[in-house]
Amino acid sequence: MDIYDQKKRSEIMSKISSKNTAPEVIIRKILHSMGYRFRLHQKNLPGTPDIVLKRHQKIVLVNGCFWHGHENCKRSKLPETNKDKWEAKIQKNKLRDEHNLAELKVMGWDVLVIWQCQLRDREKLMEQISSFMTNE
Ligand SMILES: [Zn+2]
Repeated sequence: MDIYDQKKRSEIMSKISSKNTAPEVIIRKILHSMGYRFRLHQKNLPGTPDIVLKRHQKIVLVNGCFWHGHENCKRSKLPETNKDKWEAKIQKNKLRDEHNLAELKVMGWDVLVIWQCQLRDREKLMEQISSFMTNE
């Protein structure tokens, strides 16, 4: 059983999904330390991408494992209460993500998706970001 009632659970979950989440801040700091300049939450691009490096035609998306339905990840485990509802919601998010990603690519953007669970290995993360940024 979920220890929270439905309303409280939704409230908690919506807080988790809000902008300027800790994982995004971590990625921003890494990019910053590498000397890159970027803009945040560009509303004029599909899906309002988290981090936009315009000069490089690159975008970094930081996905929460739960909300974006990270496959085979234990952080994306759905609450037992209202599981069907959550499943439908997450599925909808995933479709939207795919759609936005496809559109960004058509527009000529190079996109890196970083999952929340990848933030645990900071060294690997920095390597990944640096190779994405230097790969033309
Ligand atoms: Zn994950």
